Amino acid sequence: MPRQKLRSFKIVQTTWNLKPLFTSDNDPRMKKKRNVVERKANEFINTWKDRSDYLEDPLVLCQALDQYEAWKRHYGTDGDEGYYFWLRTQQDQNNAKLKAGFNKVEDFSKKLENASQFFHLRIARIKPELHKTFLEHRALAGYRHFLERIFAESRYHLSEPEEKILNLKAATSYSNWTKMTSGFLSKEERTVMTEEGRRKTKPFSELAGLMSSKSKRVRDSAATAFNDILRKHAEVAEAELNSVLAHKKIDDELRGTSRPDELRHLADDIESEVVDTLVDSVAKRFAIPARYYRFKAKLHGVRKIEYHERNVEYGEVAKRYSYSRAVDVVHTALGKLDREFADIFDGFITNGQIDAYPKKGKDSGAFCIHHLMVQPTYILLNHTGKLHDVLTIAHELGHGINNELIKQKRHALDFGTPTSTAEVASTFMEDFVLDEILHAADDELRFAVMMQKLNDDVSSIFRQAACYRFEQELHHEFRQKGYLSKEIIGMLFQKHMAAYMGGAVEQSKGSENWWVYWNHIRYFFYVYSYASGLLISKSLQNAVKKDPSFIIKVKEFLSTGLSDSPKNTFAKLGIDIGNRQFWDKGIDEVERLLNETEQLAKKLGKIRK
Ligand SMILES: [Zn+2]
Repeated sequence: MPRQKLRSFKIVQTTWNLKPLFTSDNDPRMKKKRNVVERKANEFINTWKDRSDYLEDPLVLCQALDQYEAWKRHYGTDGDEGYYFWLRTQQDQNNAKLKAGFNKVEDFSKKLENASQFFHLRIARIKPELHKTFLEHRALAGYRHFLERIFAESRYHLSEPEEKILNLKAATSYSNWTKMTSGFLSKEERTVMTEEGRRKTKPFSELAGLMSSKSKRVRDSAATAFNDILRKHAEVAEAELNSVLAHKKIDDELRGTSRPDELRHLADDIESEVVDTLVDSVAKRFAIPARYYRFKAKLHGVRKIEYHERNVEYGEVAKRYSYSRAVDVVHTALGKLDREFADIFDGFITNGQIDAYPKKGKDSGAFCIHHLMVQPTYILLNHTGKLHDVLTIAHELGHGINNELIKQKRHALDFGTPTSTAEVASTFMEDFVLDEILHAADDELRFAVMMQKLNDDVSSIFRQAACYRFEQELHHEFRQKGYLSKEIIGMLFQKHMAAYMGGAVEQSKGSENWWVYWNHIRYFFYVYSYASGLLISKSLQNAVKKDPSFIIKVKEFLSTGLSDSPKNTFAKLGIDIGNRQFWDKGIDEVERLLNETEQLAKKLGKIRK
């Protein structure tokens, strides 16, 4: 009989239930299941490896893709075993037996991967004059975008022997260089002032964290050490970065691209014009971060913040949330948006798909992971009760909900999200949960939380757009001049940092070398995706706040997976993301938060007038 109904479920399971995969690390079914994976893979490989009719006849290609899809959906190259051991190593990183188990499956999987690679490569070599016939054939309609993606990339492929040479030379002309610089940096350590007021030797990797300390002595001491290390290696980094830029230029020339960021956009399934509009729209509103830093300087009672202390926190968020309280908050916020969101969350909890608490040996971060389409999604958390932990639940759950919505509507070859929109669902849920928390908070807590949120938004949106423009100019200048000295690189760097930070942040002495440790400029142009994900999310939030029924369109977007490009997907929903207005709506949300935070600061008497 129904008793008092407080919640629709009870949290009984706070560790992963991996039984849908295996019952234990020694489950006797492992070997049997692996044999099935091998058999299924070989069935596919042996059916198609010596045939070429599927490259000419759309109906035969459809047959091949159906078989390929079914294999990828149920078995892939490592089945349940690969997923199981990977998950187990995240729970227990120091367990050598688990690592060995994982490595063994990896080896097995690599062999099947190599043996089946021919399929993709040959589709990519379908003659361009046949592309249209294949893409427009009715039987292949479900695989249209999958084929479009392969064909689009194949335009830049070189001949097989040329690709082979590029591959073999990639380490010596590119990755060894970048590893060298990061290797030098990671070996550095310096004696600095710590929070406890004592001097202690700290490795390079810990200095960045110390620069956000509430104590100015600690921040400044860490910055002095940090700058000293970068100065020491700037000369080497100059030679390294020039090689990296030259390597990229040669690649682009051989492949015939028209701009340095073209292949990035292609890989991310986003049109260059969309990225251009995004970066432009953000840059046109650099007045917002400049105003934020002015406000922050005022709060800290200084005229200017130094470059290294721009992330220093203001206020204290002391409130604590037990795991079950946190789950309640997230559940409530999701339920208000859409019943199905809350139901998916219920399922994750009751089925044991969330590993909630920190444990010895467990991975220290947070993630949401999926593998084969038929396997459960798993979420790893390290809940300690901080407000940030509540937002992390919302974030990872956003990824999880995204997965489940895609599973309902798409096939295995479209199961996934393009990089450009991968963080939309996560930040969407995160922001709505934050609203729920702010709603119930007192003014002091609200103020501290809003300041943190602003800092995050400024870093993810405006800073990344500035970084993107710095990268663009680096490649452009290198291609014009042939070589860039460390002084020139530093000047370009400071120019782009000052552009979004405005006058209230000092481009302090030493900060001209901060490009030395920036990894992302060595991996080319992906930083825009932080801004695109968050701004698409904010633009959608803006629409839902105006009209709650818009959530239906949000769900449609979230269930697209890889079945179409973001631009086409939005176009079907009546939204043009090639238009500035779309991005401006997202940016408006940040400006609104800044306005509210400034007003609250006045109300609380933190700043005058
Ligand atoms: Zn994420």
